[in-house]
Amino acid sequence: MSSALASVLLAGACIAVLTVTPRGLHRLELNAGGIAKEVQCAWSRWMAKRDGVIVISRGDPNDRAIALTFDDGPHPRTCTAILDALKQEKVHATFFPVGFRLQQNRDLLDRMIAEGHEVGNHTWDHQRLNAISPEKARREVRNVRTFVYEHTGIVPHLVRPPGGSYDTRVLQIIRDEGGAVCLWTANAGDWKKMSANEIVDKVLEQIHPGSIVLMHDEFMQTPEALPRIIRELRARGFRFVTASEMLGAPPPPFQAPALPPRWNIAGLSVMPSSDTPPA
Ligand SMILES: [Zn+2]
Repeated sequence: MSSALASVLLAGACIAVLTVTPRGLHRLELNAGGIAKEVQCAWSRWMAKRDGVIVISRGDPNDRAIALTFDDGPHPRTCTAILDALKQEKVHATFFPVGFRLQQNRDLLDRMIAEGHEVGNHTWDHQRLNAISPEKARREVRNVRTFVYEHTGIVPHLVRPPGGSYDTRVLQIIRDEGGAVCLWTANAGDWKKMSANEIVDKVLEQIHPGSIVLMHDEFMQTPEALPRIIRELRARGFRFVTASEMLGAPPPPFQAPALPPRWNIAGLSVMPSSDTPPA
């Protein structure tokens, strides 16, 4: 029995345990509501629990892992080119799509999943969650989660609030929806319509071990820059992981779990001690 599982069973407070990483840096536990309630790690500057929500902006600074992330898609042309580049370079990345665009481009969602990428949640309408009513903010998060789950059987547990904007109320909503917040370390600035060369330079100058790179699924310069970024970073000894892998979790399952969504937080193996999870 793992130490984390033992400690939780002894504590008696939790009925589900999520993971113990191979490096033992941190662990997540679920309470009866399916909410991750604890995180321990050696690099808390970059991964913290705020108002009960895990907020990650970087991985382990001692590990030469990089997470590439793509926001605001899927746009048919750019997303296809990004997926082609990732496939060619054999890299798994994390997409933070917008719900209404997923609805219009379900084939691209299927392709992301089929090719081993992680899908997160960037709200349904790309709303600044701290600037709208709590009810609307909750719908913005929940509707993407529901759509992706119903379409793929996978729960997009990582939420990236548009603009990186959040407050205590937004964190509480994300917590209640069973999510964790994924921010970024390096900003490619590709939304400024930079050239591919400028994007390459901008990313490379910000890279450190554990960097989470923010790029966008919107402009063709991004997929144009991608192979050069990947090859240069590999030459510097970096490897590529999804955001969940950087968080210490195994990759999310790529097939529908036979569990209700809130029991699949973090895409990890859930071990309920009761046969009947709460609704
Ligand atoms: Zn965005």
